[in-house]
Amino acid sequence: MRVAMIGSGYVGLVSGACFADFGHEVTCVDMDKTKIDALNGGKVPIYEPGLTELVNANVKAGRLKFTMDLAAAVKQADAVFIAVGTPSRRGDGHADLTFVYDAAKEIAAAVDGFTVVVTKSTVPVGTGDEVERIIREARQNQGGDAADVAVVSNPEFLREGAAIQDFKHPDRIVVGTDDERARAVMTELYRPLYLNRSPVMFTGRRTAELIKYAANAFLATKITFINEIADLAEKAGADVQEIARGIGLDNRIGSKFLHAGPGYGGSCFPKDTLALLKTGLDHDSPLRIVEAVVAVNDNRKRAMARKVSHALNGDIRGKTVAVLGLTFKPNTDDMREAPSIPLIAALQDMGASVRAYDPVGMEQSREYLKNVAFCNDPYDCAQGASALVIVTEWEQFRALDFARLKGVMAKPVLVDLRNIYRPDELARHGFAYEGVGRGKK
Ligand code: NAD
Repeated sequence: MRVAMIGSGYVGLVSGACFADFGHEVTCVDMDKTKIDALNGGKVPIYEPGLTELVNANVKAGRLKFTMDLAAAVKQADAVFIAVGTPSRRGDGHADLTFVYDAAKEIAAAVDGFTVVVTKSTVPVGTGDEVERIIREARQNQGGDAADVAVVSNPEFLREGAAIQDFKHPDRIVVGTDDERARAVMTELYRPLYLNRSPVMFTGRRTAELIKYAANAFLATKITFINEIADLAEKAGADVQEIARGIGLDNRIGSKFLHAGPGYGGSCFPKDTLALLKTGLDHDSPLRIVEAVVAVNDNRKRAMARKVSHALNGDIRGKTVAVLGLTFKPNTDDMREAPSIPLIAALQDMGASVRAYDPVGMEQSREYLKNVAFCNDPYDCAQGASALVIVTEWEQFRALDFARLKGVMAKPVLVDLRNIYRPDELARHGFAYEGVGRGKK
């Protein structure tokens, strides 16, 4: 199959490279010249484990190409994927569909012969109808065959940091269409995954669109639920880690997404929960649980700064705080809506100076963080600090040399917002320890 992938960001590039790896002929398109130049020069512009190798191997095999020429890529394609951004619209929090609709117009002007247009971007229910309307209308105005396109919803569930594994071994693939020809094309595209026995679920287009938002809102709810239980455990002298294990072993609940921490962030959950709330209001069907999740999660960011201040007995003004981990999760360079951003701003508002280190996200974080001293490694970061705060649980932070840290810090205080250490372990190293939801009896 010949595939055009419109948008070569975290989703488009991974999906394009994986489809090429399945044996399809893929052209990844982007309007960002720097990205396309980098890719054509053999450089992958994002950090995603294994992606550089996958891209290089498929470019070498002649199955993967990069271009800014959308029309040429679309003309030759059997399937055109829209994988552009759908950020929050300024002001009201609804999904901004400008990139999606602009891409649809460009696609309409270029399609040649029966083409399946697939929205992989996360889009509110009903967007597929509008994409179809835009394309059909434009085709008719150009004197083309309006019926020669099928618009399909195929939301993406990959997680940054494990994106290739997720794409190649998904829990499920959701395909929203009632067009038989489109169904055949989608089946062919995902054939290697049928062989792996990944469940492929065909459904209506609107249902597919809503599945994506329902999934993200549910996961955000699970995280927020355990975070509130963590707050209670902290006050009531219980340990949220054990509570999470105790409830997670129940198959009806499941152990994933029950890690208490600084609140969810990233490029998806914050914007998707907000967009779902708007969709609910548009349909006069408010989502009260999601509303509470968004509010609780927002409040949590500042609460984490208060936790740091509390670890310093309220004496934070004029002190240095060292922050380990800036990206929204490990194994990515993505800083969008990272919990580190509001946390650092709140620490600075309280009068602390902040030093920071991240294994991969230093360059990206400069765009988001002001007046921060960027450091070379965890020990450089801890120099003169009165508290060390773990915000992102990168693997390399799991085995810190506490004797060395103690030697360079003003005070041996660890605030572990990801609960990667045990309080008794840190006490042995002579550190005051503050985790999340680990109440002292
Ligand atoms: P991104 O910002 O990394 O990439 C989007 C790319 O699209 C950009 O490079 C941009 O230049 C390009 N683009 C926009 N309009 C274009 C056009 N008309 N022609 C060519 N290129 C164009 O975004 P992302 O993180 O890959 O997310 C894309 C979509 O996938 C979003 O809807 C997101 O919600 C969804 N999604 C993201 C993830 C994730 O983990 N990042 C996971 C699942 C779903």
